Amino acid sequence: MKIEPTKILVLAILTVFFAGCANALPVRTGADAVKLKKGTSCAPGIGPAHNIGEGDKEKTAVTNKVQKTEEEWKAQLSPEQYAITRQKGTERAFTGKYYNCHTEGVYKCVCCGAELFSSKEKYDSGSGWPSFWAPHAKENVAEHDDSSYGMQRTEVTCSQCGAHLGHVFEDGPKPTNQRYCINSASIELDEKK
Ligand SMILES: [Zn+2]
Repeated sequence: MKIEPTKILVLAILTVFFAGCANALPVRTGADAVKLKKGTSCAPGIGPAHNIGEGDKEKTAVTNKVQKTEEEWKAQLSPEQYAITRQKGTERAFTGKYYNCHTEGVYKCVCCGAELFSSKEKYDSGSGWPSFWAPHAKENVAEHDDSSYGMQRTEVTCSQCGAHLGHVFEDGPKPTNQRYCINSASIELDEKK
């Protein structure tokens, strides 16, 4: 049996067409996924506080002025505060007490009371975590490379006691373009009187 050349051409065009359609959807989904990833996510887990992970240990080599045993921290802090500040956890977005707080004052370290951030540099990032475009007391806020969870991020800690505060990203507002994404559980607002 002889196949007409026109039929072969039609078949070929149809094959290319359907192959094209099949590819189109995953490609578009991929682009959306990238867009979402670049959003305002603070930390890996939009989920409950996680326990200390691999690769987190070497960063605690900094000598902190305030040193307490794990038992002392546990006694002083709530379970959530302990999991976040001493075990590098992350609170769920939109659950902390300060993400939508506009009260004037200075945010202090919940562990040692060091002044860290201020309402003057606080802004609404929409991420669900308190966000600042700069620290209030730069000397009390330390930054470290963090490559946990397969991501390259910059962790922010209290330089006085080593408490994990959150992360800093380069997508903040002017003048610094920085976004200090901080857990509410790591800070305590000292309201301006
Ligand atoms: Zn501290």
